[in-house]
Amino acid sequence: MAKCPRCGAEVKEPVKTWQLVSPLPDSEGRITITVMGSFVCPNCGYRWRGKVSILKVGPDGTTEILQPGKRRRGRRKKKRENRPKEEGTVIEIDISDIYEEL
Ligand SMILES: [Zn+2]
Repeated sequence: MAKCPRCGAEVKEPVKTWQLVSPLPDSEGRITITVMGSFVCPNCGYRWRGKVSILKVGPDGTTEILQPGKRRRGRRKKKRENRPKEEGTVIEIDISDIYEEL
C-alpha cells in the first residue's frame, strides 16, 4: 500500500515491480533484496517509484520480510525488539503481522 505524494490517494498495488539485490551481506551475513515498485495514482494519474518491501535472505535460506517504514526511527526500534535470535517464532509472528498490513 502506498500513498500518492501528490494528492494523498491510496494506491493498493504497484503497476510494476523489480528487485534490487545488494551485493554486500549485512552484519548477520544476510543479503538484502529491495523490491521496488512503480505506482500510478488512480485519482490524479501521478506516477512515482518507491520501495514495496525489503527481503533479508540469510545464508541458511531464511527470509525475513521488512516493510519499508515511513519513519526510519520506528523501523529500527521494531527491528531491535525482534532481535532475540533464540526465538524463531517471534520472527514468524512478525512476518504474518506484516502480511496483514499489506
Ligand atoms: Zn494522486
